[in-house]
Amino acid sequence: MTRRALAAELAACCRHLSQRGLIAGRDGNLSARAGKDRVLVTPSGGLKHRLRPADMVEVDLAGRRQGGRRNPTSELDLHLRILRLRSDVGAVIHAHPPAATAFALAGEGLASFSLPELILLVGRVPLVPFGMPGTPELGEQVEACLGGHAALLLANHGAVTLGRSLEEAWIRMETLEHSARILLGARLLGRVTELTPEVVARLEALRASV
Ligand SMILES: [Zn+2]
Repeated sequence: MTRRALAAELAACCRHLSQRGLIAGRDGNLSARAGKDRVLVTPSGGLKHRLRPADMVEVDLAGRRQGGRRNPTSELDLHLRILRLRSDVGAVIHAHPPAATAFALAGEGLASFSLPELILLVGRVPLVPFGMPGTPELGEQVEACLGGHAALLLANHGAVTLGRSLEEAWIRMETLEHSARILLGARLLGRVTELTPEVVARLEALRASV
């Protein structure tokens, strides 16, 4: 994919996040690999749904700006730590999806074995202890919990999803929020029925082979 196409995809993803209510105003930030030592990231400031492809900022994995007119996102450190640690990750999305973030406020990750899509597409989602947004403290906490996970909930803050592509990270963010809403509804009804261990094992095997 060309840089131009990748920048357009980032801008489209920002609009979707906003339209789907997964962020408000300036919330959230995205990154995608654009080469061996190059990453395209969203800029700091500005309403996300108004960002254009030309607003994206190119940096290297050390965080030095290599292209673009604007300053990179204030959460650049968090994105780069993940991309440096995980060569399998091509894109990172950070958002504030309301239902998933409610779990993070309640001090819970999303480790339910009741929804096939959540197991298949996202897997277990751990809760990362609180770190001050926009500081290395948050990146350090994420780094410590990252492991091989595809998604993380950030205590009192929001969510991070990873993917080989931006599309995969986006699908995971949507699935994470959708699952959190369903789980909240089931809890209101008073009971969450878990899948049997055999079904969970089959889904996890399927996930590993995707
Ligand atoms: Zn945030």
